[in-house]
Amino acid sequence: MNLAHILARSARTFPERPALLVGDRQLHTYAALAARSARLAGYLRQNLGLEAGERVAIYMSNCAEYLECLYGILWAGLVVVPINAKLHPREAAWIVGNAGARLVCVSADLAGELAPVLHDEGGVVPLLVPGDGHYLRAVTALAIPVQERTPDALAWLFYTSGTTGQPKGVMLSHRNLQTMTACFFTDVDPVARDDAAVYAAPLSHGAGLYSFPYMLRGCRHVIPESGGFEPDELIALSRSVGRLCLFAAPTMVRRLVDRVQRSGADPSGFQTIVYGGGPMYADDIRIALHAMGPRFVQIYGQGESPMTITALSREVLANRADPDWASRVASVGVAQALAEVRIVDVEGRSLASDEVGEVVVRGDAVMSGYWRNPAASAATLRDGWLWTGDMGSMDSHGFVTLKDRSKDLIISGGSNIYPREVEEVLIAHPAVREVSVIGRRDEDWGESVVAFVVLEEGSRGVGADELDRHCLDRMARFKRPKEYRFVDALPKNNYGKVLKTSLRRLLLEAQAGCIPDQAK
Ligand code: AMP
Repeated sequence: MNLAHILARSARTFPERPALLVGDRQLHTYAALAARSARLAGYLRQNLGLEAGERVAIYMSNCAEYLECLYGILWAGLVVVPINAKLHPREAAWIVGNAGARLVCVSADLAGELAPVLHDEGGVVPLLVPGDGHYLRAVTALAIPVQERTPDALAWLFYTSGTTGQPKGVMLSHRNLQTMTACFFTDVDPVARDDAAVYAAPLSHGAGLYSFPYMLRGCRHVIPESGGFEPDELIALSRSVGRLCLFAAPTMVRRLVDRVQRSGADPSGFQTIVYGGGPMYADDIRIALHAMGPRFVQIYGQGESPMTITALSREVLANRADPDWASRVASVGVAQALAEVRIVDVEGRSLASDEVGEVVVRGDAVMSGYWRNPAASAATLRDGWLWTGDMGSMDSHGFVTLKDRSKDLIISGGSNIYPREVEEVLIAHPAVREVSVIGRRDEDWGESVVAFVVLEEGSRGVGADELDRHCLDRMARFKRPKEYRFVDALPKNNYGKVLKTSLRRLLLEAQAGCIPDQAK
């Protein structure tokens, strides 16, 4: 079944329900959104002559036309290649070339910069720009029915965020995305028809993937006027639109919670906040629950098993009476319904409860491989299991606690130190706003621990000695950072993930004397 059937179904069942809003202003009903997608699909297939399975990229910031492009491409039986709008046009052009895309839907603000670099790369890929004449022709073309696709046909080519090296195209089929959608209802949120999905995070990533369950239920889809994440705007929308549901990276949750706390806003207009995509420190989720109540659900996934490895439910997060609550909130929850999860050693043997190893996952959400990259596919998919590269443990009840990416593990004096453990302790200090811990080469110890710290406003007086005392009270001596570096901000990629590779480079450069040593 083609995944786009979910939009066709909702349009048939509830044609007059509001489907798309920009801010709190309604733009399209379900009937209108489906009709525009069906016409765009007709334009792609009939007018442009694209054939089933060909790729169409979307390089647009979150905007009103995003969803009709996304669903129109799928409706046409084509493969969507969403590219993060924050990527440099050259990076976007690289993805367009790698995917062999035949067309790029690109917003007007990005088209001017993309066109010349696409040309430089030798591509003659046409652009479709919302608002221009071609686009108007596309959404008024002759509609076609949803084009049939087999469950294993490619639906979404998902480029990894590339925290190391070139991004890889993760091949996601209609079945993979249907499985993710089914798991959403069982493990993340049942979704009520009055809910409103608000897209504050890039639609090219998790937020766009999570449009599927809300489309199936016939909910409202809200594009913020700003096209992005603005805490005050979200708070205003929670009042005017109500029942807001959003997917947010941990840094966004932190900013939203902070704003709610400072402004004393009523959080009741937020229905569900799903967080994931990076570590959420236990201390942060405790504060979030205190400030906004039981509205949070955590998911752990990766592009290769989109949004679908484990989930930590609203109920578990809210159940403070549970004697294991403290460890539960620090976990990423239990395997989602249609995902088998194990913790294994390097040979792939299952480890006992609480032992740390690599997280592997199997199930119908797992990708079929990387686009035109058999070597990387073979290294990541072994005997039907996806090797996530994440280290973690599973307790006797199935709760998984992540430690770190395997490559981030620090081995000092022969002992394993998981940066996440050190970060958890440091973030609990009231003066610490953000922290990232990495290893540096050390003659005596093999590696030693270095903490990059962003201090809260007004806490500039806090120094290494104070943080060291804080650590001494809370963790084994050998895990304490040997060095603190106080910085104004941590380097992050376009999805808000901290770039530990950049921090390592910074240390190497400082060691080589390229930049002044900033350690206090
Ligand atoms: P991406 O494929 O870019 O979405 O990145 C996936 C990676 O983000 C995972 O392999 C994890 O390392 C990390 N990640 C995702 N969700 C979580 C989570 N809930 N907690 C901690 N790390 C996470």
